[in-house]
Amino acid sequence: MKKRAGLGIYLSGLCFLIGCGGKVENKINQSIEDNQSAKTIVEWDSSSGHPEVIFGEWRNQAAESESEKEKLMSEVCEKLIGLSGQSLSIFEEEIRRESNQFFIAGCKDALLQRLDEYFAAERSNLSVQVNALRSQRSSNNFKFQDNVQLRDYSKGYLAYSGDVAKKEIVLTFDDGPSDSYTRSILRSLKEVNAKAHFFELGKAVRLNSEITKLVAADGHMVGSHSITHSCIGNLKECGRANGGHQYTFDAAVAEIRGGHQAVYDVLGWVDPIFRFPYGASAPNLRNYLKMSSTGEFYWNIDSQDWRAQSNSHLIHNTLAQIEARGLGIVLFHDIQRRTAEILPEFLRELYTRGYSVVLLQSSDPKLKYNSKLIRKKLP
Ligand SMILES: [Zn+2]
Repeated sequence: MKKRAGLGIYLSGLCFLIGCGGKVENKINQSIEDNQSAKTIVEWDSSSGHPEVIFGEWRNQAAESESEKEKLMSEVCEKLIGLSGQSLSIFEEEIRRESNQFFIAGCKDALLQRLDEYFAAERSNLSVQVNALRSQRSSNNFKFQDNVQLRDYSKGYLAYSGDVAKKEIVLTFDDGPSDSYTRSILRSLKEVNAKAHFFELGKAVRLNSEITKLVAADGHMVGSHSITHSCIGNLKECGRANGGHQYTFDAAVAEIRGGHQAVYDVLGWVDPIFRFPYGASAPNLRNYLKMSSTGEFYWNIDSQDWRAQSNSHLIHNTLAQIEARGLGIVLFHDIQRRTAEILPEFLRELYTRGYSVVLLQSSDPKLKYNSKLIRKKLP
């Protein structure tokens, strides 16, 4: 450790003279700036400063030689440790990622401790608190009344607000299941009898299939959100998000079917609902879903929970949109630690303001066992 610290000081001194440390610092600054300024999640995900991109570059660089690795570790660690907790939270997934450990291990524990302190401080501002990383209940002691409404998905269905009435809210969680946060989200929903719609990614379902089973066991609806979260529609940002690659119809259909198949393989059913990654669809894909008796879900209330922000900002911004529209579909992501932390207080606010939480089930209860998007395994 001592040797590494010494090397770090030596290298940062050398880099100060020749300017080699600037790149790491610039990239981290760019990442924070892009996260804060992106208007939509597709803009953020396709940013060249996205943590997944810059850590990918560093992985390659660190793999070149032992000296490259040591140099990078000291630069990355030095910069990350100097960030505010909120800015550091942008990099949490990469700090935890197994494949980055060979060059981030030297400071991983210190960074995670800083994040824990940041989330603890953020939590202390909430009146209903829950640590998303621990198995614990919140102090919520109310229950939402059941509000199941039936929709006819047999000829497709387009949901922006879900056609709910005033003061009715549809909760949706995308991009999971997450081994880190989905359990906490399930606990918070269960303790107040709130049912939600989960749009899971095929690749995450294959990785965390036990969690998909927990979601289903709690009575939530489980649809899909493609296999890999590629931008398969014809939104102009899709090309950039996919690194210049535009999906053909067949490749896009394979993504849709694969997401549904992953859920079906785990549960033996999949609800007839799909959400396009980034909400990016195309007329022929929409038609395909219609022909496949599958509803297409958008949203009219965007929490933007992928952006680093304070807990209170996330709650107030989401509630302000709900109050302005009076009803509709809320978009959250169960891969976000912040979302899991604010959920109990958010639910309490919904309840005290007189909102009801709606589940939009299929009017045909057999449809989920007979999805046209999946291939049944032969007995
Ligand atoms: Zn998504």
